[in-house]
Amino acid sequence: MKNDNTLTSQDLTDISADEFTQAYQQFVKAGDLISLTRQFEQGFAQTGKDNQLSFNVKDAKVSLLDTGILLVEPESSATSDKPSKRIVISSGIHGNETAPIEIVQQIISDIVTQNIQVKHPTLFIMGHPVAMNIAKRFQTENLNRLFCGKHQAIEPCFEKYRAEKLEKYVSDFFNAGTSDVTNYHYDLHTAIRSSKYEKFAIYPYQGDKPWDKEQLSFMAACGVNTILFGHGPTGTFSYYSSANFKAHAFTVELGKVRPFGENDMANFQAATDKLTALVCNKDLSLKDFDNNDFNLFEALGDITKVSDNFKLYVDDAASNFTDYPVGTVLSTDTGEEYRTTKPGESVVFPNANVGNGQRAALMVVPSTLS
Ligand SMILES: [Zn+2]
Repeated sequence: MKNDNTLTSQDLTDISADEFTQAYQQFVKAGDLISLTRQFEQGFAQTGKDNQLSFNVKDAKVSLLDTGILLVEPESSATSDKPSKRIVISSGIHGNETAPIEIVQQIISDIVTQNIQVKHPTLFIMGHPVAMNIAKRFQTENLNRLFCGKHQAIEPCFEKYRAEKLEKYVSDFFNAGTSDVTNYHYDLHTAIRSSKYEKFAIYPYQGDKPWDKEQLSFMAACGVNTILFGHGPTGTFSYYSSANFKAHAFTVELGKVRPFGENDMANFQAATDKLTALVCNKDLSLKDFDNNDFNLFEALGDITKVSDNFKLYVDDAASNFTDYPVGTVLSTDTGEEYRTTKPGESVVFPNANVGNGQRAALMVVPSTLS
């Protein structure tokens, strides 16, 4: 550093390299990925490739691939059985959804401090460091609409590049597995609005494939027994893994959004415990699937805003899964109206403030699996 107190760009690079080295060493000790991710929201020059940012814990290798992206791989010599699963656990795709980030944090710190031993390769993700730091759902674009290449169609912004990177890390991770390995991706969220059922999961559209009852039992064991079956391809993170890598995948909504430190983590204990058991190859003690244990919903269709005359008669504060009697008018638009036709017909994600041609609400009906 020069003695006239002005810093050259090389000085600044050196300072941030020092800062990073310190923060990384702190992470290796205590496993606080939230703190490291928030400190380097845009990433860092060093990468986890070539083992630069890798360290060993009990019978596993931990590699920091990028800001908020941590790969944990069991040492092959340490497991008598070959790992049969590859698991992605993601959080914070919406930056203000802090409870899932704290769940991921808990599991990572248990791994780094050697409280638990990972038996299946697992990729942990804190999805949107910039939105985490501004305590917002997103900065410019909703990241969870940009997967499956949809990021290519938007203007440059943090979310565009983050979606592209997340796709690459996840595809590299799943592509590294052999064909006899089963893939999993649980994308953890909390919802903005209240819900008649506090926890629910969206099961990405499966095309011709049947819904997997054992996965539903796993969701129930995580405390999530309301399931909404997806009705078509989307740009969500879980759909990306499901459609491209045949992963068992869910978008899991674990309750309401709260700031960091204000979550009652006891409310998420079942999910934390079961996800931990999954990555550690412990017995999951799943109950056989029974329709009576679930609230299952299938999509009936969208209420679409067609023109500026659109009116939605669903209260802004209405909870997800609020149901209406048959014959209730829920919206009107130029020359048309939406009237409920099925018993138990319920509204999910209502939002009147969308552009013409966009979905203002998703209508669902109760369903069972045979
Ligand atoms: Zn979310």
